[in-house]
Amino acid sequence: MSGRADEIAANLDAVRRRIRDACTEAGRPEDDVSLVVVTKFFPASDVRVLADLGVTDVGENRHQEAEAKAAECADLGLRWHFIGGLQSNKAAAVAAYADVVESVDRAKLVGPLSRGARARGAEVDVLLQVSLDPPGADHRSGAAPADLPDLARRVVEADLLRLRGLMAVAPLGEDPRTAFARLADVREELVREHPGATVLSAGMSGDLEAAIACGATHVRVGSAVLGPRPAVQ
Ligand SMILES: *Cc1c(COP(=O)(O)O)cnc(C)c1O
Repeated sequence: MSGRADEIAANLDAVRRRIRDACTEAGRPEDDVSLVVVTKFFPASDVRVLADLGVTDVGENRHQEAEAKAAECADLGLRWHFIGGLQSNKAAAVAAYADVVESVDRAKLVGPLSRGARARGAEVDVLLQVSLDPPGADHRSGAAPADLPDLARRVVEADLLRLRGLMAVAPLGEDPRTAFARLADVREELVREHPGATVLSAGMSGDLEAAIACGATHVRVGSAVLGPRPAVQ
């Protein structure tokens, strides 16, 4: 193995151990929680290393980079998660390669995603991104919890989109456990209406334990596996 592969393997072991420990702590079976490795800013060669190490799910947040990497790694059979801000004029193109679109936060995205899925000839899994920011916060990304019922219904009614659950990012400046506890309530309400929408994508390198304690089924981990990203984002 190259030095880079050794480094990634060691980091991946440590993250898998953190997930196992957090599951034990929460009294959950460890196969309750899936790892999505966030590969943004890292090259396709790292994605190959990850696939060799048994990673099945990878996440990207910028369309052009994601599209190119997914094409370069098409032979690996990975599930590609799109986790970034989504422009409606790019949504159809994202649905052409993303198996899961985690960042659906407004109704305007639903039509283009559905058209993209039809062009691809495959179903696309959808998570609704919900904002955990206090109402009125600037730069909110994610739908307000009050807007979820309508958004969920639109996804369910769209051809070839499968409503699978929710995604969220803990806001800066708040204990992630407090934020993820609110998320657990929002999820409970969604699942009451949509019993199949049980996925909860929450938790990153810094707060995956808090997310698992609050019911996350998917954690999105970048830097703890691949190292620090370049400063420019
Ligand atoms: C970059 C990113 C992550 C991974 O963050 P790390 O702190 O590097 O683990 C998770 N979720 C989203 C939405 C991201 O953009």
